[in-house]
Amino acid sequence: MIDLRELYQDIILDHGKHPRNFGRPVVNANRASRGHNPLCGDKLTITLHVDDNGTISDLAFDGAGCAISTASASLMTETLKGKSLGEAKTIFEQFHHLVTDGECSDDVDLGSLEVFAGVREFPVRVKCATLAWHTVVAALDSPPQSTDSVAPISVVSTE
Ligand code: ZN
Repeated sequence: MIDLRELYQDIILDHGKHPRNFGRPVVNANRASRGHNPLCGDKLTITLHVDDNGTISDLAFDGAGCAISTASASLMTETLKGKSLGEAKTIFEQFHHLVTDGECSDDVDLGSLEVFAGVREFPVRVKCATLAWHTVVAALDSPPQSTDSVAPISVVSTE
């Protein structure tokens, strides 16, 4: 039998060490945000391109943080690419439930994001896991900006 916990740990370690969509801003970014989790020291900047239909056509992140925050941001970028703004918010709400109270709806498939289920046993780590999400939601809630002069919105994780 596969030990699910070990499998989850492997995925988090892999994404923490080799983050996807990392280290470069997206081409023609029209939204951006910067997140900071003072408790752990995680800092990241997210850039996105949201197209005219309200679809996240591309997103990437940069910054420095612990393995959990980096892995969470990495998996988030993979999950949200190609999603609509509405879908992104629904996934965030479910993910938030997953890492806080564990009460997820069966209607939303979190896929690989479920590797973070164990985080709720470590309340200090919840902020690490949700930082990228709070940061991306702030960017999604902000009006689109000119691709020539995108200024990141600042988010400090306080929950
Ligand atoms: Zn952290």
